[in-house]
Amino acid sequence: MDTVIEKIRQDAEEFSTGEEEILRRAGSVIRDGGLVAFPTETVYGLGGDALNSESARRIYAAKGRPSDNPLIVHICRFEDLSGIVAKVPDEAVKLAEAFWPGPLTMILHKSEKVPYETTGGLDTVAVRLPASGAARKLIEYGGGYVAAPSANLSGRPSPTDAESVKEDLNGRIRMILDGGAVGIGLESTIVDLTVTPPQILRPGYITESMLRKVLGEVDTDVTIMHDGSGQKPRAPGMKYRHYAPKGELVIVEGKPDNVAAYINLRTAEAAGRGARTGILCTGGELSRYRADVVQCLGERSDEESIAKNLYAALRLMDREHVEKIYSESFEAQGLGQAIMNRLLKAAGHKVVKV
Ligand code: AMP
Ligand code: MG
Repeated sequence: MDTVIEKIRQDAEEFSTGEEEILRRAGSVIRDGGLVAFPTETVYGLGGDALNSESARRIYAAKGRPSDNPLIVHICRFEDLSGIVAKVPDEAVKLAEAFWPGPLTMILHKSEKVPYETTGGLDTVAVRLPASGAARKLIEYGGGYVAAPSANLSGRPSPTDAESVKEDLNGRIRMILDGGAVGIGLESTIVDLTVTPPQILRPGYITESMLRKVLGEVDTDVTIMHDGSGQKPRAPGMKYRHYAPKGELVIVEGKPDNVAAYINLRTAEAAGRGARTGILCTGGELSRYRADVVQCLGERSDEESIAKNLYAALRLMDREHVEKIYSESFEAQGLGQAIMNRLLKAAGHKVVKV
Protein backbone atom coordinates (compact mmCIF):
# COMPACT_ATOMS: atom_id res chain seq x y z
CA MET A 1 0.00 0.00 0.00
CA ASP A 2 1.20 3.52 -0.79
CA THR A 3 1.33 5.82 2.23
CA VAL A 4 0.32 9.39 1.32
CA ILE A 5 2.04 12.10 3.39
CA GLU A 6 0.38 15.52 3.72
CA LYS A 7 1.49 18.61 5.67
CA ILE A 8 -0.84 20.17 8.21
CA ARG A 9 -0.49 22.82 10.96
CA GLN A 10 -1.12 20.76 14.09
CA ASP A 11 -2.09 23.61 16.42
CA ALA A 12 -4.30 25.61 14.04
CA GLU A 13 -8.00 26.09 14.84
CA GLU A 14 -8.89 27.53 11.42
CA PHE A 15 -7.65 25.74 8.30
CA SER A 16 -7.01 26.86 4.71
CA THR A 17 -9.09 25.36 1.90
CA GLY A 18 -6.19 23.05 1.03
CA GLU A 19 -5.85 21.85 4.62
CA GLU A 20 -9.61 21.37 4.93
CA GLU A 21 -9.49 19.17 1.83
CA ILE A 22 -6.66 17.09 3.33
CA LEU A 23 -8.46 16.71 6.69
CA ARG A 24 -11.72 15.69 4.99
CA ARG A 25 -9.88 13.16 2.84
CA ALA A 26 -8.11 11.78 5.92
CA GLY A 27 -11.45 11.62 7.76
CA SER A 28 -13.03 9.63 4.96
CA VAL A 29 -10.10 7.17 5.00
CA ILE A 30 -10.96 6.54 8.68
CA ARG A 31 -14.71 6.28 8.02
CA ASP A 32 -13.95 3.74 5.27
CA GLY A 33 -12.01 1.56 7.76
CA GLY A 34 -8.50 2.75 6.83
CA LEU A 35 -5.71 4.09 9.05
CA VAL A 36 -4.27 7.63 9.29
CA ALA A 37 -1.34 8.72 11.48
CA PHE A 38 -1.74 12.25 12.89
CA PRO A 39 -0.04 14.63 15.33
CA THR A 40 -1.44 15.19 18.81
CA GLU A 41 0.16 17.28 21.56
CA THR A 42 1.55 14.11 23.23
CA VAL A 43 2.89 11.88 20.43
CA TYR A 44 1.73 10.90 16.90
CA GLY A 45 -1.36 8.66 16.95
CA LEU A 46 -2.41 5.91 14.53
CA GLY A 47 -6.11 6.57 13.96
CA GLY A 48 -8.87 4.19 12.93
CA ASP A 49 -12.65 4.09 13.48
CA ALA A 50 -13.05 3.13 17.17
CA LEU A 51 -16.55 1.74 16.61
CA ASN A 52 -15.47 -0.58 13.77
CA SER A 53 -13.93 -3.85 14.97
CA GLU A 54 -12.24 -4.35 11.58
CA SER A 55 -10.43 -0.99 11.98
CA ALA A 56 -9.24 -2.02 15.44
CA ARG A 57 -7.85 -5.28 14.00
CA ARG A 58 -6.06 -3.28 11.29
CA ILE A 59 -4.44 -1.07 13.94
CA TYR A 60 -3.09 -4.11 15.82
CA ALA A 61 -1.81 -5.62 12.57
CA ALA A 62 -0.10 -2.41 11.35
CA LYS A 63 1.68 -1.92 14.69
CA GLY A 64 2.37 -5.60 15.35
CA ARG A 65 0.65 -4.94 18.69
CA PRO A 66 -0.73 -7.75 20.89
CA SER A 67 -4.54 -7.61 20.65
CA ASP A 68 -5.01 -7.71 24.46
CA ASN A 69 -3.47 -4.23 24.63
CA PRO A 70 -6.47 -1.83 24.49
CA LEU A 71 -6.67 1.35 22.40
CA ILE A 72 -7.48 4.88 23.54
CA VAL A 73 -10.60 6.36 21.92
CA HIS A 74 -10.16 10.01 20.90
CA ILE A 75 -13.12 12.38 20.79
CA CYS A 76 -13.38 16.01 19.63
CA ARG A 77 -16.16 17.33 21.94
CA PHE A 78 -16.91 16.57 25.60
CA GLU A 79 -20.58 15.91 24.71
CA ASP A 80 -19.51 12.89 22.66
CA LEU A 81 -18.20 11.12 25.78
CA SER A 82 -21.69 9.99 26.81
CA GLY A 83 -22.06 8.08 23.50
CA ILE A 84 -19.42 5.49 24.39
CA VAL A 85 -19.53 5.13 28.18
CA ALA A 86 -22.18 3.57 30.45
CA LYS A 87 -22.26 6.69 32.65
CA VAL A 88 -20.36 9.97 32.88
CA PRO A 89 -19.36 10.23 36.56
CA ASP A 90 -18.91 13.60 38.32
CA GLU A 91 -15.14 13.03 38.47
CA ALA A 92 -15.04 12.85 34.66
CA VAL A 93 -16.87 16.17 34.36
CA LYS A 94 -14.45 17.82 36.81
CA LEU A 95 -11.37 16.39 35.11
CA ALA A 96 -12.63 17.41 31.68
CA GLU A 97 -13.22 20.96 32.90
CA ALA A 98 -9.69 21.12 34.27
CA PHE A 99 -7.67 19.24 31.63
CA TRP A 100 -9.60 18.69 28.37
CA PRO A 101 -8.71 19.28 25.63
CA GLY A 102 -5.34 17.96 26.80
CA PRO A 103 -2.99 15.10 27.66
CA LEU A 104 -5.29 13.17 30.04
CA THR A 105 -6.96 9.80 29.33
CA MET A 106 -9.84 8.58 31.51
CA ILE A 107 -10.84 4.93 31.96
CA LEU A 108 -14.63 4.49 32.26
CA HIS A 109 -17.17 1.66 31.92
CA LYS A 110 -17.88 1.23 28.21
CA SER A 111 -21.25 1.28 26.45
CA GLU A 112 -22.33 -1.46 24.03
CA LYS A 113 -21.35 0.74 21.09
CA VAL A 114 -17.63 0.13 21.68
CA PRO A 115 -16.44 -3.21 20.25
CA TYR A 116 -14.27 -5.48 22.41
CA GLU A 117 -11.61 -5.37 19.68
CA THR A 118 -11.06 -1.69 20.58
CA THR A 119 -10.89 -2.35 24.34
CA GLY A 120 -8.73 -5.47 24.15
CA GLY A 121 -11.62 -7.53 25.57
CA LEU A 122 -12.23 -5.23 28.58
CA ASP A 123 -15.56 -3.80 29.76
CA THR A 124 -13.88 -0.44 30.27
CA VAL A 125 -12.82 2.10 27.65
CA ALA A 126 -10.01 4.67 27.64
CA VAL A 127 -11.06 8.13 26.33
CA ARG A 128 -9.16 11.31 25.55
CA LEU A 129 -9.97 14.70 24.00
CA PRO A 130 -6.69 15.94 22.47
CA ALA A 131 -5.63 19.59 22.35
CA SER A 132 -4.20 19.63 18.83
CA GLY A 133 -6.63 21.45 16.52
CA ALA A 134 -5.76 19.27 13.53
CA ALA A 135 -6.38 16.13 15.59
CA ARG A 136 -9.83 17.35 16.67
CA LYS A 137 -10.80 18.24 13.06
CA LEU A 138 -9.66 14.82 11.88
CA ILE A 139 -11.68 13.11 14.63
CA GLU A 140 -14.76 15.14 13.63
CA TYR A 141 -14.40 14.24 9.94
CA GLY A 142 -13.51 10.65 10.85
CA GLY A 143 -16.89 10.08 12.51
CA GLY A 144 -16.29 11.35 16.05
CA TYR A 145 -14.65 8.31 17.68
CA VAL A 146 -11.08 7.60 16.61
CA ALA A 147 -9.07 4.82 18.25
CA ALA A 148 -5.46 5.96 18.23
CA PRO A 149 -2.51 4.24 19.89
CA SER A 150 0.93 5.70 19.33
CA ALA A 151 1.90 5.47 15.64
CA ASN A 152 4.99 3.29 16.11
CA LEU A 153 5.73 -0.40 15.64
CA SER A 154 4.93 -2.13 18.93
CA GLY A 155 7.85 -1.98 21.36
CA ARG A 156 9.69 0.90 19.64
CA PRO A 157 9.88 4.45 21.03
CA SER A 158 6.70 6.44 20.32
CA PRO A 159 6.98 8.83 17.34
CA THR A 160 7.30 12.53 18.08
CA ASP A 161 7.56 13.60 14.43
CA ALA A 162 6.24 12.41 11.05
CA GLU A 163 9.68 11.12 10.00
CA SER A 164 9.60 8.63 12.90
CA VAL A 165 6.10 7.47 11.88
CA LYS A 166 7.35 6.93 8.33
CA GLU A 167 10.34 4.96 9.60
CA ASP A 168 7.98 2.45 11.29
CA LEU A 169 4.75 2.43 9.27
CA ASN A 170 5.49 3.47 5.66
CA GLY A 171 3.59 1.11 3.33
CA ARG A 172 1.46 -0.23 6.23
CA ILE A 173 -1.08 2.63 6.54
CA ARG A 174 -3.02 4.86 4.10
CA MET A 175 -1.93 8.32 5.23
CA ILE A 176 0.37 10.35 7.49
CA LEU A 177 -0.51 13.93 8.45
CA ASP A 178 2.80 15.69 8.99
CA GLY A 179 2.43 18.49 11.55
CA GLY A 180 6.09 18.69 12.54
CA ALA A 181 7.42 17.89 16.01
CA VAL A 182 4.86 17.46 18.83
CA GLY A 183 4.76 19.71 21.91
CA ILE A 184 4.90 17.31 24.89
CA GLY A 185 6.66 14.19 23.61
CA LEU A 186 5.36 11.63 26.17
CA GLU A 187 2.02 9.75 26.05
CA SER A 188 -1.01 10.99 28.03
CA THR A 189 -1.53 10.44 31.75
CA ILE A 190 -4.04 7.58 32.21
CA VAL A 191 -6.40 7.76 35.19
CA ASP A 192 -8.84 4.96 36.01
CA LEU A 193 -12.19 6.33 37.24
CA THR A 194 -13.79 2.89 37.64
CA VAL A 195 -12.04 2.35 40.99
CA THR A 196 -12.20 4.28 44.29
CA PRO A 197 -10.10 6.29 44.78
CA PRO A 198 -9.21 6.99 41.13
CA GLN A 199 -5.89 5.43 40.17
CA ILE A 200 -3.10 6.61 37.85
CA LEU A 201 -2.17 3.75 35.53
CA ARG A 202 0.39 5.67 33.47
CA PRO A 203 2.13 8.93 34.51
CA GLY A 204 2.29 11.80 32.02
CA TYR A 205 2.26 15.58 31.65
CA ILE A 206 -0.78 15.86 33.98
CA THR A 207 0.85 14.94 37.29
CA GLU A 208 -0.47 13.27 40.42
CA SER A 209 -0.55 16.57 42.32
CA MET A 210 -2.51 18.27 39.50
CA LEU A 211 -5.07 15.42 39.65
CA ARG A 212 -5.26 15.61 43.48
CA LYS A 213 -6.22 19.29 43.27
CA VAL A 214 -9.31 18.30 41.28
CA LEU A 215 -10.21 14.88 42.69
CA GLY A 216 -8.88 14.88 46.24
CA GLU A 217 -7.56 11.39 46.87
CA VAL A 218 -5.72 9.70 43.99
CA ASP A 219 -3.69 6.46 43.97
CA THR A 220 -0.89 5.38 41.66
CA ASP A 221 -0.53 1.84 40.32
CA VAL A 222 2.53 0.48 42.20
CA THR A 223 3.86 -1.25 39.10
CA ILE A 224 4.55 2.12 37.41
CA MET A 225 8.07 2.58 38.77
CA HIS A 226 8.95 -0.95 39.90
CA ASP A 227 9.75 -4.13 38.14
CA GLY A 228 9.49 -7.60 39.66
CA SER A 229 6.89 -6.53 42.24
CA GLY A 230 5.08 -9.70 41.14
CA GLN A 231 1.99 -7.62 40.37
CA LYS A 232 0.40 -7.18 36.97
CA PRO A 233 0.09 -3.56 35.79
CA ARG A 234 -3.59 -2.49 35.57
CA ALA A 235 -3.07 -0.84 32.15
CA PRO A 236 -2.47 -3.96 30.04
CA GLY A 237 -0.03 -2.15 27.76
CA MET A 238 2.33 -1.31 30.60
CA LYS A 239 3.39 -4.95 31.00
CA TYR A 240 5.19 -4.99 27.67
CA ARG A 241 8.79 -3.89 27.17
CA HIS A 242 8.12 -0.59 25.58
CA TYR A 243 9.63 2.56 24.21
CA ALA A 244 12.83 0.61 23.71
CA PRO A 245 15.81 1.30 21.45
CA LYS A 246 17.50 -1.67 19.74
CA GLY A 247 20.73 -1.26 21.72
CA GLU A 248 21.08 -2.17 25.40
CA LEU A 249 20.15 0.80 27.60
CA VAL A 250 21.38 1.18 31.20
CA ILE A 251 20.38 4.02 33.57
CA VAL A 252 23.13 5.26 35.90
CA GLU A 253 22.12 6.91 39.16
CA GLY A 254 24.34 8.80 41.64
CA LYS A 255 26.35 12.00 42.15
CA PRO A 256 27.18 13.69 38.81
CA ASP A 257 30.95 13.05 39.20
CA ASN A 258 30.40 9.35 39.89
CA VAL A 259 27.88 8.99 37.07
CA ALA A 260 30.20 10.61 34.51
CA ALA A 261 33.20 8.55 35.66
CA TYR A 262 31.23 5.29 35.54
CA ILE A 263 29.66 5.97 32.14
CA ASN A 264 32.96 7.05 30.55
CA LEU A 265 34.66 3.92 31.91
CA ARG A 266 31.92 1.63 30.55
CA THR A 267 31.74 3.29 27.12
CA ALA A 268 35.55 3.12 26.83
CA GLU A 269 35.42 -0.62 27.66
CA ALA A 270 32.61 -1.23 25.19
CA ALA A 271 34.43 0.75 22.49
CA GLY A 272 37.51 -1.38 23.21
CA ARG A 273 35.44 -4.46 22.35
CA GLY A 274 34.42 -2.77 19.08
CA ALA A 275 30.84 -1.84 20.14
CA ARG A 276 29.23 1.47 19.13
CA THR A 277 28.36 3.51 22.20
CA GLY A 278 25.87 6.24 23.10
CA ILE A 279 25.05 8.48 26.05
CA LEU A 280 21.85 10.34 27.02
CA CYS A 281 22.68 13.27 29.28
CA THR A 282 21.69 16.74 30.49
CA GLY A 283 23.15 20.05 29.28
CA GLY A 284 25.42 20.83 32.22
CA GLU A 285 27.24 17.48 31.92
CA LEU A 286 27.48 17.24 28.14
CA SER A 287 31.17 18.17 27.78
CA ARG A 288 32.31 15.48 30.25
CA TYR A 289 31.14 12.50 28.25
CA ARG A 290 32.96 10.42 25.61
CA ALA A 291 31.07 8.08 23.25
CA ASP A 292 30.24 7.66 19.55
CA VAL A 293 26.93 9.49 20.07
CA VAL A 294 26.45 11.87 23.02
CA GLN A 295 22.91 13.24 23.01
CA CYS A 296 21.77 16.11 25.24
CA LEU A 297 18.11 15.85 26.32
CA GLY A 298 18.00 19.42 27.70
CA GLU A 299 18.90 21.16 30.93
CA ARG A 300 18.20 19.15 34.10
CA SER A 301 15.97 21.98 35.40
CA ASP A 302 13.90 21.94 32.18
CA GLU A 303 11.91 18.70 32.43
CA GLU A 304 9.60 19.72 29.58
CA SER A 305 12.53 19.72 27.19
CA ILE A 306 13.76 16.34 28.48
CA ALA A 307 10.26 14.86 27.95
CA LYS A 308 10.09 16.34 24.47
CA ASN A 309 13.50 15.06 23.35
CA LEU A 310 13.60 11.59 24.94
CA TYR A 311 12.00 9.44 22.22
CA ALA A 312 13.77 11.21 19.36
CA ALA A 313 17.08 10.60 21.19
CA LEU A 314 16.29 6.89 21.59
CA ARG A 315 15.45 6.66 17.89
CA LEU A 316 18.67 8.49 17.02
CA MET A 317 20.60 5.75 18.84
CA ASP A 318 18.95 3.19 16.53
CA ARG A 319 19.70 5.22 13.40
CA GLU A 320 23.35 5.43 14.53
CA HIS A 321 23.43 1.65 15.20
CA VAL A 322 24.45 2.21 18.81
CA GLU A 323 24.76 -1.08 20.74
CA LYS A 324 25.49 0.15 24.28
CA ILE A 325 23.61 3.17 25.64
CA TYR A 326 24.00 4.79 29.07
CA SER A 327 21.62 7.41 30.44
CA GLU A 328 21.67 9.77 33.39
CA SER A 329 18.79 9.28 35.84
CA PHE A 330 16.04 11.78 36.77
CA GLU A 331 14.03 12.68 39.90
CA ALA A 332 10.80 10.67 39.72
CA GLN A 333 8.58 13.58 40.80
CA GLY A 334 6.13 15.70 38.84
CA LEU A 335 6.82 15.36 35.12
CA GLY A 336 10.02 13.53 36.12
CA GLN A 337 7.85 10.56 37.13
CA ALA A 338 6.65 10.16 33.54
CA ILE A 339 10.19 10.61 32.20
CA MET A 340 11.60 7.94 34.55
CA ASN A 341 8.67 5.58 33.88
CA ARG A 342 9.42 5.62 30.12
CA LEU A 343 13.19 5.50 30.61
CA LEU A 344 12.93 2.51 33.01
CA LYS A 345 10.74 0.63 30.52
CA ALA A 346 13.08 1.45 27.66
CA ALA A 347 15.95 0.10 29.78
CA GLY A 348 14.03 -3.01 30.85
CA HIS A 349 14.58 -1.66 34.42
CA LYS A 350 18.38 -1.94 34.22
CA VAL A 351 19.66 0.64 36.74
CA VAL A 352 23.18 0.94 38.19
CA LYS A 353 23.72 2.95 41.38
CA VAL A 354 27.20 4.50 41.68
P1 AMP B 1 -0.90 3.90 23.55
O1 AMP B 1 -2.15 4.47 22.97
O2 AMP B 1 -0.05 3.15 22.60
O3 AMP B 1 -0.17 4.96 24.30
O4 AMP B 1 -1.37 2.83 24.63
C1 AMP B 1 -2.58 2.94 25.29
C2 AMP B 1 -2.42 2.57 26.74
O5 AMP B 1 -3.67 2.71 27.39
C3 AMP B 1 -1.96 1.13 26.95
O6 AMP B 1 -0.94 1.06 27.92
C4 AMP B 1 -3.22 0.46 27.44
O7 AMP B 1 -2.95 -0.64 28.23
C5 AMP B 1 -3.95 1.58 28.18
N1 AMP B 1 -5.39 1.35 28.18
C6 AMP B 1 -6.24 1.52 27.16
N2 AMP B 1 -7.50 1.16 27.50
C7 AMP B 1 -7.45 0.74 28.79
C8 AMP B 1 -8.42 0.23 29.70
N3 AMP B 1 -9.69 0.07 29.35
N4 AMP B 1 -7.99 -0.10 30.94
C9 AMP B 1 -6.70 0.06 31.30
N5 AMP B 1 -5.74 0.53 30.47
C10 AMP B 1 -6.09 0.87 29.23
MG1 MG C 1 2.20 3.15 22.55
